[in-house]
Amino acid sequence: MSVSHEWHRLTKDDITQLLNVDPGKGLSEAEARHRKGKIGENRLMEGKRISPYVLFLNQFKDFMVLVLLVATLISGLLGEYLDAITIIAIVVMNAILGFVQEYRAEKSLTALKELASPEATVLRDGKWRRIRAVDLVPGDIVSLESGDRIPADVRFLETYNFQAEESALTGESVPVEKHCKTIDSDEISLGDKHNMGFMGTMAVGGKAVAAVVATGMQTEMGKIADLIDSAEQMQTPLQLKLEQLGKVLIGVALFLTAVVVVTGIMHGHDAYKMFLAGVSLAVAAIPEGLPAIVTIALALGVQRMIKRKAIVRKLPSVETLGCATVICSDKTGTLTQNKMTVKQLWTGGTALTVSGEGYQPEGRFMLNEQTVDLRRYADVRRMLQIGVLCNNARLVKQRKKGKLFAKDEWTIEGDPTEGALLVVGAKAGWYANTLSQKWKRVEEIPFDSERKRMSVMLQSEDGKTVIYTKGAPDVLLDHCSHILWNGQVRMLTPQLKQQVLRQNETLAGLALRNLAFAYREVKETARHSLEQMEKELVFVGLMGMMDPPREEVKESIKTCDEAGIKTVMITGDHQSTAVAIARQLGILPRHGEVMNGRELARLSPEELERRVDNIYVYARVSPEHKLKIVQALQARGEVVAMTGDGVNDAPAIKAADIGIAMGISGTDVSKEASSLVLSDDNFATIVAAVEEGRGIYDNIRKFIRYLLASNVGEILVMFFAMLLAMPLPLVPIQILWVNLVTDGLPAMALGVDPQEGDTMKRRPRNSRENVFARGLGWKILSRGLLIGVCTLGAFWLTYQQNPDDLARAQTVAFSTLVIAQLIHVFDCRSEISVFHRNIFENAYLVLAVISSLLLLLVVIYYEPLQPIFRTVGVGFREWCLILVMAGIPTFVAGIFPKVMFDHRRRRALPQ
Ligand code: ATP
Repeated sequence: MSVSHEWHRLTKDDITQLLNVDPGKGLSEAEARHRKGKIGENRLMEGKRISPYVLFLNQFKDFMVLVLLVATLISGLLGEYLDAITIIAIVVMNAILGFVQEYRAEKSLTALKELASPEATVLRDGKWRRIRAVDLVPGDIVSLESGDRIPADVRFLETYNFQAEESALTGESVPVEKHCKTIDSDEISLGDKHNMGFMGTMAVGGKAVAAVVATGMQTEMGKIADLIDSAEQMQTPLQLKLEQLGKVLIGVALFLTAVVVVTGIMHGHDAYKMFLAGVSLAVAAIPEGLPAIVTIALALGVQRMIKRKAIVRKLPSVETLGCATVICSDKTGTLTQNKMTVKQLWTGGTALTVSGEGYQPEGRFMLNEQTVDLRRYADVRRMLQIGVLCNNARLVKQRKKGKLFAKDEWTIEGDPTEGALLVVGAKAGWYANTLSQKWKRVEEIPFDSERKRMSVMLQSEDGKTVIYTKGAPDVLLDHCSHILWNGQVRMLTPQLKQQVLRQNETLAGLALRNLAFAYREVKETARHSLEQMEKELVFVGLMGMMDPPREEVKESIKTCDEAGIKTVMITGDHQSTAVAIARQLGILPRHGEVMNGRELARLSPEELERRVDNIYVYARVSPEHKLKIVQALQARGEVVAMTGDGVNDAPAIKAADIGIAMGISGTDVSKEASSLVLSDDNFATIVAAVEEGRGIYDNIRKFIRYLLASNVGEILVMFFAMLLAMPLPLVPIQILWVNLVTDGLPAMALGVDPQEGDTMKRRPRNSRENVFARGLGWKILSRGLLIGVCTLGAFWLTYQQNPDDLARAQTVAFSTLVIAQLIHVFDCRSEISVFHRNIFENAYLVLAVISSLLLLLVVIYYEPLQPIFRTVGVGFREWCLILVMAGIPTFVAGIFPKVMFDHRRRRALPQ
């Protein structure tokens, strides 16, 4: 089974023999396991990950931390052992905290990548099943369809108009037609091996069955894997901006620290002490934890999204989600349930209804509510037969386990539209497996959304050949020259065509999704391709199927409306069907316009841009039109989320600000182009993801506000004290301790804060908005300033009363600073004011604050620690001062916005 075989030169029999596999049954599970054990998983080796040790050591790489460690060592050598040991202990604890944060963030990101790993359809033990692509082994028989990523190197055994796009390997982006014939040539390039497919390339048309000949690093892709840069851009715009901001903040912090040190020395403080205080201040004031906490908030938010069925493939989209102003959604399966049931049949002048729900093949055919005998309706029988044979779905019976009298449960494997045709056929007594024994398929053009039809060529045992076609009625009619009318084939006159179209309108107006059916008898098995023969067909009739809207979607559309997001329906379905469903769901307002694909194709981009604002439904569009819609919306300044599932949807998904693919019905190509995958294909999930996206951004703003305001407070206490020639209000160890305790747990708890109730009642955020916008910068500076001034005030008052007891005043300053920050953290939870939220809502935050308070009490009152932290046990009067001063920044600053907000709201209410 070595890769050195020239697979393209071998015949199919040689290949299966060499691979030791029965092409009709595939490998057995046991054999596949055995081969996997020997050869390994079917994956390309990834670049080296950073080991946990390196990650830990990286925590000490920060320049200021190194300076602090050196300074501490010197003080240790000078005899200040206790100080040195404590400072080192605090620095190490800080490093552990940083390490845990970064390690968790890294882990969750890796887990995310795994989630998006592709699957393959493989024949094992005689049954087709979906498995993870990494479990494939040489010898596996795989089935490939348009939209699949080719999961390993394969040699084709059967192909039906199969095309692959191999630019990932050959650089050539024009799709290549594949076949399964032997190519007898030795010097041949990869691009010319038309009977082989290669890992990592894409199937973009048709169907194929193939044998896996190489996996993992043995594949052509594996051979060049080290040339591939698999590093995806995993940093969000906000993270990049924060990185830049971090550099500015370091500069500012260092400058202020230098001023503190220099003025301190000028005012007669001991140079060495001032230096140590300065370095500690710099370490505390630089928000080194910020990037890691942002990553954690993103990663945890993404985990929450997964629980709500939205899988983020590209991290930056988490931020963009919160800015979305338009969601363009497919109809079938996303807004509707994709559970089709045929309700109406129409053939040359006869209209029948069908009873029965779901996939249970039980129901009656009725004319004017009377059951009819189908034997009298040959045209209807012919239509049902086309529906069953021009079909790739399977109707499967499953017995419900564990229930004694349980009914058989029927399900569909494959396209639900085709499944509905199998069910209605079975209601008339026709099952695909019996019919297809009589009629063997010799050729097929699979359905695609561009052509909107599907055809098969069938041969009967007695040598007859027919073409059966089904598709969108208006499209199929253009390929018909005749019509079956009461058992007779007639010319399809313009009048008859009009009659069919009118009938089509009537059914579509009932929100039914329509399919038309046609056939052609072929005299001799002509040499032409099937596509050339898809003309001069005989039109047989129409079937109208019901696809009910998803129940939760109506509510989600209302939520979008309140959140300032417009919902647009884009569908390949008929205009009247689309309008009927859009009205049921509340997508189409009274003034809203509907546009169909033909008109859309005619409009220039500028014309569309002028009209796009008022269009809510696009019907009968081809996937290529979606790109035009995205571009027009973007030109109007909208931030667009666009869904899609097929190969041809990929350009629009890529171009959209948030490209969304379907987890169940979506192709690999669409998933790879997307930034978000809906694991339940449901529109409501997009809205949930937008809500999470907004919430995550809010939380990031919350802890940026908290961390920076705390740092501003810390710097300003020292800064003002030195300017005013006061004694040092905080000793270095206290500064480091404040940094460790308040920057750690409370900030992390803010990252998982529950959303404010109005998350989906606000308009979307402007995507160009600065993170400090909407008053955040002002809040950081004003609260930081107040915290600094109040801390210094508490220090000064205590010092005035006890000029001989500096440690007491420092303890008061230290406690005021810590408690002010712990109160302020609750203020950061609301964009309006601390009084707008229940403080017990976030249990993590309450726990983080209580534990920080306990640690403070231990440091103050536990006698063995007092000499280390330079603290004294302060009394009742001091505590009163501490609490008042610590409360001022939040409560005084919080009352004003609350009064303003309430006042504005009262004015806004109708009188
Ligand atoms: P959406 O774009 O919202 O998912 P859709 O599923 O109706 O809508 P398409 O799948 O592109 O869009 O289908 C377009 C039309 O093609 C349908 O209205 C139907 O008439 C026809 N059609 C759908 N599925 C098949 C099929 N399997 N075989 C033949 N024709 C089909």
